[in-house]
Amino acid sequence: MQKEKVIILGSGPAGWSAAIYTSRANLNPLLISGNELGGQVSITYEVENYPGFPQGTTGPELVDSMRQQAEKFGARLEINEVIEVDFTKGSPFYMKTHSQEYEADAVIVATGASPVRLGVSGESDFIGRGVSFCATCDGFFFRGKDVVVVGGGDSALEEGLFLTKYASAVRVIHRRDMLRAGAALQRRALTNDKMSFVWDTAVERINGNGKVQAVEVRNLKSGAVETLPTDGVFIYVGHHPNSSLFEGQLAMDEHRYLITDKKMTTSVPGVFAAGEIQDPLYRQVATSVGQGSAAGIMAERWLSERASR
Ligand code: NAP
Repeated sequence: MQKEKVIILGSGPAGWSAAIYTSRANLNPLLISGNELGGQVSITYEVENYPGFPQGTTGPELVDSMRQQAEKFGARLEINEVIEVDFTKGSPFYMKTHSQEYEADAVIVATGASPVRLGVSGESDFIGRGVSFCATCDGFFFRGKDVVVVGGGDSALEEGLFLTKYASAVRVIHRRDMLRAGAALQRRALTNDKMSFVWDTAVERINGNGKVQAVEVRNLKSGAVETLPTDGVFIYVGHHPNSSLFEGQLAMDEHRYLITDKKMTTSVPGVFAAGEIQDPLYRQVATSVGQGSAAGIMAERWLSERASR
């Protein structure tokens, strides 16, 4: 059993910010990365709304700088996945990865959120063969090709714009006739020559032979069904919190986001949460950084108050 003062779960902006604050407080935190090192922002090509970067930056660069900053102050990274936790007995809290068991006096949960799937026929079969949830990772493979993007939020437009660097045409298929994305992104997307929009339309099936060849879509107003030939389907229809590990142990809302108070404390004292795991509202790098910093500060205070009792 490895004993730690603070364990941080998750390696996105919230996790690294908590690591910067707890390492500067001499708590020597251990950050366990989870499946996706760097979290969602690490698969985001362009970040242009994070303060302090007037020219913009990329997700991987930003999260890697955060890691370097935390490690400089003594944070340690363990690339592994926590597969079991027991928070029911209070501090020290039990956690287990594929290779090690841990006990930590305090825990900061920053496990983030993952892309939602459409749940249509062909989606799972063609992952890696034309279906993707990551334009940054896969866009390069669609040079000169025709792709569709599903969704009408910030992610759909941002990643769609990124895809115009490679693809010859990017069609955004959205279930309504109004976009959810912010005004600046909408303006850029609507005026981009390579982008076009298919409104009031749902993807019902993804077809192909070994790789994606078409999507079957239904116009939700007229009911008309059509087949649109395409080489790639990029799906951006939202995210769900990575909270299954904490089922029955930490209080959650009806969408399974962790519930925290103003001090970033979960329903278990000594277990804090930050970033998208507890934030269905803002979900920005900047807000996750703020919440991670707050959780780091509160974990340190909780530990010192406990020690002085
Ligand atoms: P989102 O804002 O929840 O948008 C999801 C989109 O997918 C919506 O347009 C939604 O349609 C559509 N959708 C949902 N379920 C669907 C289904 N089953 N079939 C078809 N379409 C479906 O998710 P997101 O774009 O991933 O963004 C998540 C959060 O991250 C947001 O808070 C966003 O602001 C933030 N974000 C910010 C930036 C940035 O600021 N640069 C970049 C990326 C993400 P409806 O509109 O009809 O609901």
